[in-house]
Amino acid sequence: MRAAVFHQAGQSLTIEQVAMPYARGGDLVIAIRCCGICGSDLHMSEVHGPQSGMTPLPPGTVMGHEFAGEIVEVGRGVDAFRVGQRVTAMPYIACGQCAACLTGVGYRCAKAVYSALGQAPGGFAEYMRIGAAETLLLPDGVDDQRGALVEPLAVALHGVAAARLAPGESVLVMGAGPIGLACALWCRHFGARHIMVTDREPARLALATRMGATATVDVTQEDVIGSCKRYAGRRPDVVFDCIGIPGAQQLAMDYAPMGGRIVVIGVCMAPDTIRPVKALTKELQINYAYMYRRQEFELAIDLMNRELIDPTPMLTGTMSFAEFPQIFETLKTDKSACKMLLVP
Ligand SMILES: [Zn+2]
Ligand SMILES: [Zn+2]
Repeated sequence: MRAAVFHQAGQSLTIEQVAMPYARGGDLVIAIRCCGICGSDLHMSEVHGPQSGMTPLPPGTVMGHEFAGEIVEVGRGVDAFRVGQRVTAMPYIACGQCAACLTGVGYRCAKAVYSALGQAPGGFAEYMRIGAAETLLLPDGVDDQRGALVEPLAVALHGVAAARLAPGESVLVMGAGPIGLACALWCRHFGARHIMVTDREPARLALATRMGATATVDVTQEDVIGSCKRYAGRRPDVVFDCIGIPGAQQLAMDYAPMGGRIVVIGVCMAPDTIRPVKALTKELQINYAYMYRRQEFELAIDLMNRELIDPTPMLTGTMSFAEFPQIFETLKTDKSACKMLLVP
């Protein structure tokens, strides 16, 4: 089968023939219908050494963790699924039986094998092996493209859950990439009153408005705190860092009010410097949000199916294998595009 293969940091991915996956006990194999490129894929392909805090990808890695597909093979001992069903899955294969797995946080399972980070191949391929315990059915109302958005929606939902948002509160979302946009969508859904989104890219700020932002701030033109005060009358109750580059967490501390809450969702893979005294004197509550609970995947699927949320504005387009390596490189610098999906 064909797959987009990583060989070395700084080198573009190549489309190659690789071995077909097969289902072991408890597994499924799916034919990938759509797989989104995530900002973390772009970052991971640039990680050279341990200074990032992440293990560099081994040569031969197939990334891709935001996918929807159709089951083509059912492994031994799997009763819950059959060939032909449309599904998505959390991108790891865990034991399915320990306390972590049974409560929906299988990424903390001691036996979890991560797909798409080098331990097992991911979804930038024609086929992929997934764990039945991590798999979720896609109902008719969630087509393949929406199905590939479940994972980024769950990331943002996990972050918004960490904020313990109360109805009527004001939020500031730093960064209008897919996660920032999904964050705006969830804040709107859960009753935030003012949802202010920052970015330096006008095209993305326009998307933010379609995804639930009530105001946008172009950081190249406007002062963020001044804009918040003019628009909402005060600083935001919650600041979400959906940027994930050095300096972003300090900015979040600077923007937050006394006693404010910060949720860091952006994955910063470089050393960063903060001034803790700022967080201390403001008595900030700072939360880090990583991955998602199974229940967050379920809610994202259910609400899309019932048309109660619509993340489709963040979809920029689809691409074939032939276009994939070039577009993957372009996305590292061109921030006018948002979510691009590989259709193998
Ligand atoms: Zn992702
Ligand atoms: Zn487990």
